[in-house]
Amino acid sequence: NTFAEIDLGEALNENIRRCKYVRPTPVQRHAIPISLGGRDLMACAQTGSGKTAAFCFPIISGIMRGQSVQRPPRGARTVYPLALILSPTRELSMQIHEEARKFSYQTGVRVVVAYGGAPINQQLRDLERGVDILVATPGRLVDLLERARVSLQMIRYLALDEADRMLDMGFEPQIRKIVEQMDMPRAGARQTMLFSATFPKEIQRLAADFLANYIFLAV
Ligand code: AMP
Repeated sequence: NTFAEIDLGEALNENIRRCKYVRPTPVQRHAIPISLGGRDLMACAQTGSGKTAAFCFPIISGIMRGQSVQRPPRGARTVYPLALILSPTRELSMQIHEEARKFSYQTGVRVVVAYGGAPINQQLRDLERGVDILVATPGRLVDLLERARVSLQMIRYLALDEADRMLDMGFEPQIRKIVEQMDMPRAGARQTMLFSATFPKEIQRLAADFLANYIFLAV
């Protein structure tokens, strides 16, 4: 039971080796095959469980194998990421971005982060250079959507990290607004992963609304 035995694509497997990840953590051992198999997932996972890699690896792997995606013309102001990772805070978004970038090295997959509480201009310039995976906090993403700088019409992978914390922080209206803008809101082409440390009623309702025929994982 090692990462070498899981075929995530040559470049990603190489990056995993380089980062000295040998064995998957429990959440990774279960979540990665579920996601590679195309199923939606609701996972109970704490900080430190390795959940970041659990949702990043299937996304990076899936984009690398990419069903030849239509790219918008160069120089267009609106960008069309293929994957969206929503996280509650600037700090967590930065951590996810760092990890996702390490694992995207030489895969051709482009990762950009956008969070609130920082000037938007540098983030706009980063987006203009192209983005496959967008890591964002909900408020800043709504801003980018309202400016028509990001479109979610091509999103194939959606990961919600620390969903309970996002709800505690009052982000539910923004999250719903964001998911409504996806062309494939349920079943079908979009694949959704919901990660949360706890499962109160509000999270179960999000799962019912955003996931299709999902597998529940508690580790
Ligand atoms: P996370 O829960 O995603 O914040 O990860 C916690 C820490 O564990 C991070 O520093 C990761 O780089 C590290 N980590 C995650 N998965 C593995 C693994 N399979 N082997 C070794 N370290 C890991």
